[in-house]
Amino acid sequence: MIRLLLAALAAFILSGCSAKEGLIAQKSQTVYEAQKTIRTTLPMAQMLADFGVEKSEGKREVDTVVVHTAYSLEGEAYNPQNLYNVFKRYNVSPHYMIDRNGTIYRMADENDLAHHAGKSKMADGREGVNRFSIGVELINSTIDLPTNAQYDSLSKLIIDIKTRHNIRYVVGHSDIAPDRKSDPWNFDFNKLLTLLEKQTGYAKKDKE
Ligand SMILES: [Zn+2]
Repeated sequence: MIRLLLAALAAFILSGCSAKEGLIAQKSQTVYEAQKTIRTTLPMAQMLADFGVEKSEGKREVDTVVVHTAYSLEGEAYNPQNLYNVFKRYNVSPHYMIDRNGTIYRMADENDLAHHAGKSKMADGREGVNRFSIGVELINSTIDLPTNAQYDSLSKLIIDIKTRHNIRYVVGHSDIAPDRKSDPWNFDFNKLLTLLEKQTGYAKKDKE
């Protein structure tokens, strides 16, 4: 199944601009169906932000996922709606927010630029990381750990994103803004890596 989906994606990329419009439309439909199929396996909900996002035309070149943590200082700290309201007040937004149960709230289109990283710089010297990244907020505080459900959903989400973008880096907010930011709090990157390897392992097994 996974191999078929990847083949459909590859075919779409290879078809290029010179292909007939009808063919492109057909391939687009195939890709759309493929994405829908992948996405139905994710615990995903919509909570679109009409703030903190710059709409863009066409596909944005993205190679980085930035992991954040945040909670609400008002009301129930781990309530996604409360955190949504905080983002709104500050006019910032991630592309995705993952609650304590692992539900992934889609807040912005991946092709749109979302304001989640602020002034930031990658190890390779590139600045303004919002431009080429997708931001994911895990709901967590400085005194708790991210839940297993959050790690699980994050790893699946990254694999899902990789079907659409050539992701080369997964970084924490504090990696790209060390002077200003300390999140993702209590986040274990090795745990994420292990999960990603496990998931990729399953994918390999599926191909054999
Ligand atoms: Zn952050």
